[in-house]
Amino acid sequence: MSSFDPATPKAKKSLGQNFLQDANIARKIVDALRVGPDDFVVEIGPGPGALTSIIAERAPARLLLVEKDEYWAGERRDTKVPGGTQPEVLCADALAVAWEGFPAPWKCIGNLPYNVASPLMWEIFSRARGLSRAVFMIQKEVGQRLTAEPGTGAYGALSVWVRTFMRPRIEFIVPPQVFIPRPKVDSAVLSFEPLDDVPSLDDCAALAKTLHRCFQQRRKQLGTILKGTGLTEDALPPESGIVFTVRPERLTPGQFLLLARALRENAATA
Ligand code: SAM
Repeated sequence: MSSFDPATPKAKKSLGQNFLQDANIARKIVDALRVGPDDFVVEIGPGPGALTSIIAERAPARLLLVEKDEYWAGERRDTKVPGGTQPEVLCADALAVAWEGFPAPWKCIGNLPYNVASPLMWEIFSRARGLSRAVFMIQKEVGQRLTAEPGTGAYGALSVWVRTFMRPRIEFIVPPQVFIPRPKVDSAVLSFEPLDDVPSLDDCAALAKTLHRCFQQRRKQLGTILKGTGLTEDALPPESGIVFTVRPERLTPGQFLLLARALRENAATA
């Protein structure tokens, strides 16, 4: 491929710059987003444009690029796309973007900078209510955490949080040798579809607090962790199936939400 030229500035480690060099893989990633002519697509971290040129060729109604590196933002702004969608470029830190402000529906894609992939997904999925599909390449190990089953070592706060809003699916694994510079680990491409029922903002705040409390002490029983909150097991809805003798890592995302709501209501009446 690509628009990457070895004469361009050295890849910046601080910005997680590992540039994809394989056109077939780039195409497969964009395929997973299912770009249509009415779509508003946002790409995070376009860099030299491995994904951008393919998305643009598919001619979505609108294409917005969010790139923190001024050099690459400028390059993308200056690259004309004959016959495709000319992207708009926002030179900004994706962590500081007001994701809730995008007009629904919209789609999001990116070979995410690995150093900020987890906080980025945490913010985007909980705040972007009009997101209709997302495709992200992330570290394989993070992808496995997102899709891990309750009770396994890989299951954690990020797995619960993301699955409160989205249904993640590992699409395929990508080896290090298709990037310059090469990362040390495998990558995974994941697709995400929104769930129908998402919690209120108050419930989201309560869930974040509950996850923080529980996964800081994941080896302890729930009853021990919740001592001091005043919440008792019988105050929980019986259909929740939550018992205080289990470790938090056994709870499903749905159970965590019920627990967070109960803790919030309990604190409000205390
Ligand atoms: N899309 C290109 C590709 O597939 O080759 C580049 C992917 S590279 C893994 C990550 C890109 O995200 C880089 O272009 C980097 O400059 C950009 N980036 C890093 N941190 C960012 C941030 N906080 N906000 C927006 N872009 C960021």
